[in-house]
Amino acid sequence: MSEILTNRSGETITREDEQQLLDGVQRWLDREVADKVLALEHADEYPHEMVAQMKELGLFGATIGQEYGGLGLPAGTYAKIVTAVSEVWMSLSGIFNSHLIMSAAVERFGTEAQKHHYLPRFATGEIRGALALTEPNCGTDLQAIRTRAVRDGDDYVINGTKTWISNGIEGNCVALLVKTDLEAQPRHKGTSLFIAEKGPGFTVGRKLEKLGYKGIDSAELVFEDYRIPADRLIGGAEGSGFRHAVGGLELGRINVAARGVGIANASLKAATAYSQVRETMGKPICQHQAIQLKLGDMATRCEASRLLVEAAAKAYDRGERCDMEAGMAKLFSSESALENATECLRIHGAYGYSKEFHVERYYRDAPLMCIGEGTNEMQRIIIARQLIERNPA
Ligand SMILES: Cc1cc2nc3c(=O)[nH]c(=O)nc-3n(C[C@H](O)[C@H](O)[C@H](O)COP(=O)(O)OP(=O)(O)OC[C@H]3O[C@@H](n4cnc5c(N)ncnc54)[C@H](O)[C@@H]3O)c2cc1C
Repeated sequence: MSEILTNRSGETITREDEQQLLDGVQRWLDREVADKVLALEHADEYPHEMVAQMKELGLFGATIGQEYGGLGLPAGTYAKIVTAVSEVWMSLSGIFNSHLIMSAAVERFGTEAQKHHYLPRFATGEIRGALALTEPNCGTDLQAIRTRAVRDGDDYVINGTKTWISNGIEGNCVALLVKTDLEAQPRHKGTSLFIAEKGPGFTVGRKLEKLGYKGIDSAELVFEDYRIPADRLIGGAEGSGFRHAVGGLELGRINVAARGVGIANASLKAATAYSQVRETMGKPICQHQAIQLKLGDMATRCEASRLLVEAAAKAYDRGERCDMEAGMAKLFSSESALENATECLRIHGAYGYSKEFHVERYYRDAPLMCIGEGTNEMQRIIIARQLIERNPA
């Protein structure tokens, strides 16, 4: 009998179902994505056709509960999909990841009315969204945000600016973190999270130019007297925005970790293949010990990263607090992606520096894994705090 895999809400799929799903995603990547990546990447062009195909594959509902029309996948299965996608083009995973973190915030903390209205639309990709937390003055210290929501009858009126918002242009909805009480202590009790759909007063300031992570839009969003009905406040009560936003980041960190595994794997595969065909001093470079040392370290980093992601996803699926596990996976696999991408570029010599190959993209994409969903400096601090809390002297 096939092994049963269970998600955080108790929904199940079999190992066979998982394999079928992964095979389907891999076929799509091989047939529809792989050959088109270089052109889209260098034109920094949004992959509309692939987004339509991702809707058909159900990826916008990957972790949304089956009762709302999603696939209800366990985090472990989801992480494998993200790794497979990121091995081919990391940018694509960003298009459904922040959408799914927004969805997770609604599913975990939303009112029944919010869940029934939004989750089926999120699951099909009819409404696609993003997580709007970061502001020009703060990213790590989210309690310092300045975007303000003021109650006015049955509405709130929002003013402020968000920046670096993935899917900010192509998406039509964001989970928007605001201040509803400037005086609250501790500061996070003055924050609230809204489901904010685009409309009058909610505009895209500008598209941001980046080192990597091309194709997907990163934008500045401006809110000027943006009026939003009070029933869009997630959970219905003010003061829990920070908790709701950070609650979704555990899944977000597992996702970034899985993306790191994808980049690390892609770098290893490219280096392993190239080192067998490139010859110097009369033999393939893989026969030089200096190259073998690199390949050995790269392969070990891939396997260790994969196992850390698997452990974090299992803890998440069991419904356990897993900020330490997710933090370890995110820290190690993102640093592994960066190291593997660098070594892959070195092994390719001048070809690693060429825009005609994928290798330079791994090198540009990897650093983002160390910054997004909480910088690696913060992950180390989170891990240490949890370590101490779980092991009192
Ligand atoms: C391509 C891209 C896409 C993004 N997508 C999104 C998105 O969709 N939604 C969103 O809300 N945000 C998004 N972000 C923003 C991202 O989450 C932030 O950049 C990140 O949280 C870091 O914040 P910051 O850039 O303001 O750095 P800062 O917070 O200013 O940190 C600067 C440096 O100081 C360190 N540091 C800060 N505080 C401490 C501390 N207490 N102890 C030790 N070190 C510290 C940091 O680790 C970092 O090295 C995106 C960013 C990029 C580049």
